[in-house]
Parts: sequence; structure tokens; C-alpha cells
Amino acid sequence: MLERRPTLDAEDADRSYVYMIDWRGRSMTDAAGVSEAVAAAGVSTTTIDFMQAGRREGAGVLPDGKTKSSVIQIKDEMRSNVWLPRTAFLRALSSGLRTAEAAGRVSLLHNTEAADIRLGAAPAPGPASPSSPAASRPAITVTATDITTGASRTFAPRLLVGADGMNSAVRAALERHEEEERGAGAAAAAGAGGEGRFRPVVLDSPAAGLRFRVLQLPPNAPFRRPPPGGGSGGEEAGRLENGRFGKVVGVRAPRLRALALGLLPLRDPAAPRSANIIVPPEHEVWAQTSGEALRDFLQASFPQLDIGALMTPQQLAAAATSRGGVFPRPQYLRHFTAVVPQPQPHAAEPAASPAAASGVVLLGDAVHCFPPDLGQGVNSSLADAVALVKALDAAGGDLAAGLPAFEAAAAPEAAALAELMTFSYPYQYNQDPVARAFWTANFLMRMLLNKVAPWAFEPHSFLLVQQPIPYVEALRRAHATTQRMWALAAALAAVAAAFLVRAAMGVPPS
Ligand SMILES: Cc1cc2nc3c(=O)[nH]c(=O)nc-3n(C[C@H](O)[C@H](O)[C@H](O)COP(=O)(O)OP(=O)(O)OC[C@H]3O[C@@H](n4cnc5c(N)ncnc54)[C@H](O)[C@@H]3O)c2cc1C
Repeated sequence: MLERRPTLDAEDADRSYVYMIDWRGRSMTDAAGVSEAVAAAGVSTTTIDFMQAGRREGAGVLPDGKTKSSVIQIKDEMRSNVWLPRTAFLRALSSGLRTAEAAGRVSLLHNTEAADIRLGAAPAPGPASPSSPAASRPAITVTATDITTGASRTFAPRLLVGADGMNSAVRAALERHEEEERGAGAAAAAGAGGEGRFRPVVLDSPAAGLRFRVLQLPPNAPFRRPPPGGGSGGEEAGRLENGRFGKVVGVRAPRLRALALGLLPLRDPAAPRSANIIVPPEHEVWAQTSGEALRDFLQASFPQLDIGALMTPQQLAAAATSRGGVFPRPQYLRHFTAVVPQPQPHAAEPAASPAAASGVVLLGDAVHCFPPDLGQGVNSSLADAVALVKALDAAGGDLAAGLPAFEAAAAPEAAALAELMTFSYPYQYNQDPVARAFWTANFLMRMLLNKVAPWAFEPHSFLLVQQPIPYVEALRRAHATTQRMWALAAALAAVAAAFLVRAAMGVPPS
């Protein structure tokens, strides 16, 4: 395993968000024997103290320091979800990795970048000789560079797994290989028409393009009744307890000035808390590029917090200069595996058996990525890993059979999840209050219809995604319910029209 960061769980302020690991993620952590470590590091929705009757409660802290509790109905399937910071999750995963390393099954090289990936063996010049047998030329080579020393090592894996994120170098190597295979002319034509096999299908979402910045707050940060005239001090009104969901509501302001801070629960009562700001790229907060400017902007937005007391000048300066991140457009690949044939042996050598084929497979964000609206990035990535192992086991390790089987199972899921992202819950960031109001009405309508006639109407897709069904099935049920809602609306409109016509004609109601 090659990882370019200095350690698996290296802190990265811009990526210190909190994950929700659901039943999909658990299928992988169970298989890897790390579910207990994950549960021990996170907050489970079964154990949060404010869990009552299957409900999840969070506190909204208003600008005047008053709190407003909100209650969200949750499904049974969500009860054993675990919330934990990315770093804590990676640490829990690495506990399983250490066991595998001790058994000699895995070797993890930190600080090491996969710098050059070549697929397909170049024909060896000249005839084969005993000193350079043609069949030993590898079909896949990965040259890895130690980031500190610059030293290089070359690997020749039989199976190359590209779990290297949305800007995947392995995917780029697959694209290059495809172009080489087709020849330059054909590749240019494919590029113009967007036909490349490993080119993502890109969709759109109202959440795509939003920028996020993660602020670090102290544990159980106090909030206050703001002192008259602002500034520091003021009477403490409560605390944003680490174990609870929280939202700090900013003062009313024009859309490109209004802010809110979202806080997800943490297990450790003494751990610093990360709070997300998620706003459009033209928002005024991005113009605050010094620590002082950001402090003043945040103080004006959140009078219920004493910003100067909660964040050090260094933290403010780091937040002001951080790049933050941008939510990508939902995208997915239709193809994300390749069987790379063994090099053609020379006539004197026996042909390689199909079972000896080499292969490349992509997983996780390298295949599908999207904004974090549904908390499915990690969960779908872990589900990919489980599906890959199952497919390879079923094929007895034969990559030529196992990789296409994995792709056939995982590709419809990737496409369905990316489509769900386009409409399921993209307005949660309040980037468009009117659209958010329509979304809420739609959500409530589906909940009501599902209560009245569960055999005809499914809950909202946001809840369907949490149920133990494939994404494809969640999408199908969401669309089927939409069609039935339209049919119901049409029937109601027809009844109302008939009623009005009869009333206009003076026919008494029967
Ligand atoms: C603000 C935000 C909130 C999110 N919240 C959630 C959530 O609540 N729930 C959820 O499920 N998902 C969430 N996600 C999405 C989630 O983070 C991703 O879907 C997930 O991390 C994908 O995992 P991955 O392993 O495919 O890629 P990554 O996590 O990006 O990991 C790729 C790894 O490969 C390494 N790497 C890359 N290139 C190379 C190379 N050439 N050589 C060596 N190493 C390399 C990188 O250093 C990195 O460690 C969120 C994302 C964002 C931006």
C-alpha cells in the first residue's frame, strides 16, 4: 500500500470533518475486524444520551444566546450508525492494518507517492534470450517515490487497486493506456465526443461548487448572551457539548453574508471540535484573508460566541489562509476495471494462462464522487471494497473473470448514487432558501403519504438511502413514489375540476 501522506491518520485541518459510518461501511469494518475500534472511537446513535424513542435531537444556538432544540425522526436502520472524525476513523482502520502487517500480508509505505504508472508491457526488442525472457516483462509497473528522500522503487503488481481519491492517478493511467491502445487518432476522436471508457459521467447538483472551510473550536465551546455593544465577555448561556449535534445560527443578513456553523457529535469530551462553514464561492467570508478580518467577520455573524476567546490568533490566521474545499459535481465512471493481458511470449515460450492475467481496478472517490449531502462517500467506498473482495473470491482469484463481475455489480450502484445526489438533499446548506422550502414541503409530503399508505408511497430518498437496500433500489422507489404522487395530484385535480364544473352548472352535490 502506497500512501503519500506522512502517516495514515495525519491531521489535515481542511479534511477534519466528521463521518457517519452506516450499515454499508459496517459491512467492510466487520469484514476487516475493526467495527469495535470504530464504535469505540465514535458516537453511536444508540448511545447518545439525548436519544429518545428513536429520535435524534440537536441544539440550535440563536444569535441572542437562546437555544432551540430540533428533533429529527430517524429510522431503525440508522440506530447503530457511528459518527467519528475522519482521523479517528483512519486510526481505527489502521488498527486492522497493523494486524495484517504483523502477519506479513500487507506492507504500508507512508510518505510514498505512486509517481509513474505504466500499463501494458512494451514489446521487448530483439528475440528472447535466457538472460531477458520476454514473459517476465510486467504488464503493470508502478514507480513509487519517497517524498522526503526522492528515492524510487518500482513494483509490478498483478492487481493494481486505485483507491486514490477523486483526482486518481491510477484512473489517469487507465485513460492513457486506453489512448495508447486505440492509437492517437482514435483517442482524439473519443476525447472530442467524450467517449473515453474511463472518463467520468458528470451530472449537476445545486450543492456542487459550494465551498467549505473547517474551523477548530475548543471542546464543549461555551456560548453566551452577547454583551451590549458586542466585544468579549458576556454571560455564559450554555455549551456546545461535544456529544451532541449542534448548529450555531448566524445573525440575519443578506444571503452572501449570512453564516451558520454545523457541528457533528464527537465521542471524546475533551477533543477539539470542528465546525463547518459551507457557503457559495462568492460569499463574503472568502474575502476575509487575514486572521483579524476573519475574527471580526465571524464575531459580527455570531454574537453568541466570543470568537477571540474560542480561537487563537494562529488558528484564525490558519483558517483565513486555508484553501478549504469545493464540493464536486456528482460524477461516476461506467467502467473502472481493466484486465491487462500478459505480454505476448516469444514463440519458444508457453502462452500465459488467462488466470495469470493482470488487472487494474478503481474504488471509492476514484469511481464516484459528489457533495457530502447524504454522507455516502465513505460508505459507498467501503461497500465497493467488500463487493470487490466478494467478486474476486467467487472467481477463485481469476482477475479476467472477477474484475468484470465486480464492475457489473458495482457500476449500476455508482450511477444510481450519483443520480440520487442530484436531487435527494442538496439544499441543506441553505444556499437557496426558496428551493429549500420546496424541498422541505416535498419531504414532509412523502413522510405523510408514507404514513397513510406505506404500500403505495415510500419515504423520502434521503431516508431510503439509509435503509439496507441497494442505491439502485432506493432510486427506483423514489422515482416510483414521485410518479404515484403526480398520479394522485392529477386525480385530485380531476375531482376538483369535476366538482367545479358541476357547481358552475348548478348541479347539486349527490
Ligand atoms: C466536507 C466533506 C464532508 C464529507 N462527509 C462525509 C460523510 O459524512 N460521510 C461520508 O461517507 N463521506 C463524506 N465525505 C466524502 C469522503 O470523504 C470521501 O468519499 C472518501 O474519503 C473517499 O475515500 P477514498 O479512499 O476513495 O479517497 P480519499 O479519502 O481521497 O483517499 C485517497 C488517498 O489516496 C492518497 N493518494 C492519492 N494519490 C496518491 C498517489 N499518487 N500516491 C500515493 N497516495 C495517493 C491520498 O493521500 C489519500 O490518503 C465528505 C467529503 C467532504 C469534502
